[in-house]
Amino acid sequence: MDLANYIADIPDFPQEGILFRDITPLMANGEAFQEACCKLAEFAKKVGADVIVGPESRGFIFGCPVAYELGIGFVPVRKPGKLPRETVSVKYDLEYGSNELHMHKDGIQKGQKVLIIDDLLATGGTVKATIDIVRELGGDVVGCAFLIELEDLNGREMLKDVETLTLLKY
Ligand code: IMP
Repeated sequence: MDLANYIADIPDFPQEGILFRDITPLMANGEAFQEACCKLAEFAKKVGADVIVGPESRGFIFGCPVAYELGIGFVPVRKPGKLPRETVSVKYDLEYGSNELHMHKDGIQKGQKVLIIDDLLATGGTVKATIDIVRELGGDVVGCAFLIELEDLNGREMLKDVETLTLLKY
């Protein structure tokens, strides 16, 4: 099955000049969604992950089924003001302005082998911030996995020291 057939290309969304890769057709097709999650889960087994971390919000969509498949935990990374207990956070720059991501302080135990899963790798800012949070808590980032990689945006530069899987490249 070619998973690319289930990604819709939306020009000028959310702003003019941006070609948005919409993953919702893939999510809506049971076989395509299952195949994508199975491939991510195979990678999670290969790298020996014992916990999955996923950034809000599309990281939850792919991270949770993988955690369920392996029978391991899922830890969310969220925008400010969403997590109810004490957090660690990292700020990172965007093209215009900045973003901040949080994780519960007890989300990761020292030495845990963490696989980070998100839907899409663009500039790598989101995944880099997530790696920094995991490492600050003593976690060992054993891999990063994405459904989609936008190669022109060079997110891989942020992931030189981490084993990375992307299922579709544009
Ligand atoms: P980065 O931080 O620049 O690597 O951007 C990746 C984040 O932005 C991911 O969490 C994605 O969910 C989101 N993102 C950026 N571009 C797209 C897109 O074209 N489709 C879906 N999500 C996107």
